[in-house]
Amino acid sequence: MPLTDRARIATSAGSPLPGEAIWQAVSRDGTHPMQTERAVHLLPLPALADNYIWLLHDDNGQAIVVDPGQSAPVEHALIKHGWQLRAILLTHHHDDHIGGVAGLLANHPVPVYAPDDARIPSASVHVADRGHVRLAAPQVDFEVIAVPGHTRSHVAYYGAGVLFAGDTLFSLGCGRLFEGTPAQMLTSLDRLATLPGDTQLCCAHEYTVANGRFAQTVEPGNTALAARLAEVRRLRDNHQPSLPVSLASELATNPFLRIDVPAVIDWCRRHHQPPADRTARFACLRAAKDVFHA
Ligand code: ZN
Ligand code: FE
Repeated sequence: MPLTDRARIATSAGSPLPGEAIWQAVSRDGTHPMQTERAVHLLPLPALADNYIWLLHDDNGQAIVVDPGQSAPVEHALIKHGWQLRAILLTHHHDDHIGGVAGLLANHPVPVYAPDDARIPSASVHVADRGHVRLAAPQVDFEVIAVPGHTRSHVAYYGAGVLFAGDTLFSLGCGRLFEGTPAQMLTSLDRLATLPGDTQLCCAHEYTVANGRFAQTVEPGNTALAARLAEVRRLRDNHQPSLPVSLASELATNPFLRIDVPAVIDWCRRHHQPPADRTARFACLRAAKDVFHA
C-alpha cells in the first residue's frame, strides 16, 4: 500500500539518546486510514563537528540511513535500538556525507543509492532527477530531486512527508556554491520550496544559530524569524537538534527562500547595485553570507 505524502508529525514516546530527538511521521492512505496507517520515525545522529546523520525507521525496526559521514554513530544506534539497516541514501560526494559508507557495508550488505558521480564509488544504485527510491521495508517511496548548486550532482530525497536536503537547504540558510552557479542553486531551492508546507526538512548540518544571525541582519523586523531563532537557541542550550523543521517555517524565516519578499529586495538594494533580477538578488545574498561573521 503506497504511503501518501500527507503526514502528521509528533514527538515519539521513545527514549532518545542524549542530544537526540525522535520524531514520528504517521502517513495515511486516504481511502482506508485505519487499515493502512504506517509510521516512520526520524532520528538525527550528531556526527563529526556539526553533521547530522539521519536514521529513518519503521515500527518493525527496519531502518535506512542518509549521508553517513561516519559509521560508528550509526552502528551504535542500530545496536542500541535493535534496528536492521536496509539501505543507505547519499545526497552528494563530500566526505562528511559518505565517509562511513565503507564501514557500514562491511557489516550490512545493503544497497547504496546515490547520484551518478565517479566521486561516489560506493554507489550500487544510481538515482536521477524525478526517479524514485521505493523500499519495501521500511515501506517508503522517495522522489529524487536533482538540486545542483552546492555540488553539481547533489540530489535531495522527498517522501513520507520528509525531505532529506543534504547541504542544499539548511534551516535559515542554504549551502555554499562549491560547484554550481547562483542560477542553478536558486532553481534547486525554488523546487524544494514547492513541496507541501508540512514537509519535515532534514538538513545535514546544525548551522541554524549561525544562519539565523545572518538572516536577522537581512530581515531584522521578521517576527517569525525572531521567534524561530529564540526557539532554536533554547533547543541548542538544551543540547537538542534544531531539526527537523517544517518547510512552512522555513518559507517564513529563511532569507534564501524569501528573495521575492520586499524586505529582502530592500536589503539587496541597500547593500549592492539595484538588482536587475531575482538571480542577482540570490547571488548577492549568498555572497554576503559567505563573508558574514557573526
Ligand atoms: Zn557538502
Ligand atoms: Fe556537508
